[in-house]
Amino acid sequence: MKAKFRDTLVTALLGDITVQDVDGIVNAANSRLAGGGGVDGAIHARGGPAIMRELDVIRARQGGCPAGQAVITGGGNLAARYVIHTVGPVYGGRPSDPELLAACYTNSLRLAHGRGLRTLAFPSISTGAYRYPIEAAAPVAIAAVLAALAPYPLAEIRFVLHSAGDYGIYSRLLAAEGRLQ
Ligand code: ADP
Repeated sequence: MKAKFRDTLVTALLGDITVQDVDGIVNAANSRLAGGGGVDGAIHARGGPAIMRELDVIRARQGGCPAGQAVITGGGNLAARYVIHTVGPVYGGRPSDPELLAACYTNSLRLAHGRGLRTLAFPSISTGAYRYPIEAAAPVAIAAVLAALAPYPLAEIRFVLHSAGDYGIYSRLLAAEGRLQ
C-alpha cells in the first residue's frame, strides 16, 4: 500500500521490520533501553551486540529514556544504518497516552531528519506488550507522522505491520488520507 503526502512516499506493508532496507528503523524500546521481547528483542537478535553496547553508553550518560522520547544508535548487523529507539506509553486509557504516542513518532522523525536519514521504517509502537489498542493507536501514529513531515521531510516512511489485521487498519487509514500511488 503506497500513498504520497507532500513529497514523501508513505507505505504500509505486512512484514518484519528487522529486514527492511531503509536508512533507519524505529524500535519500540522500554524506558530502561534494556532490550526485551517483541520487536525490541527481534531488532537486538538480528542487529547483534553492537546496538546494546551503544545503548550502554547512552544509559551511562542519561539513564534510560522516558516515554515519548527517542535515542539513536547504529544498526549493527542490520541492513538499516541506524536504529531509533523510542519508548511508547503503557496504555492506561489516560489523556496523556495519545500525546506520548504521538511524541514517539514526532521525536523519531526529528532525530532521523537531523541525522540526514532519507528512509525510515516504523513498527506499531505500544500495541504489543504495552496493550495500546491498534484501532486507537494507528490514527494517532499516522496523524503524528503526517504532521511531522512538514518540519522533518523524508523521502519515504514505511509502516511495517506484523499482522494482517494491523496492516488492514493502516491501509484503510492511509488510503483515506493520501494521494494513492
Ligand atoms: P510495545 O512494548 O511498544 O507494545 P511490542 O514489541 O510488544 O512493543 O509490540 C509492538 C508491535 O510490534 C506489535 O504490533 C508487534 O506485533 C510488532 N512486532 C513484533 N515483532 C515485529 C517485527 N519483527 N517487525 C515488525 N513488527 C513487529
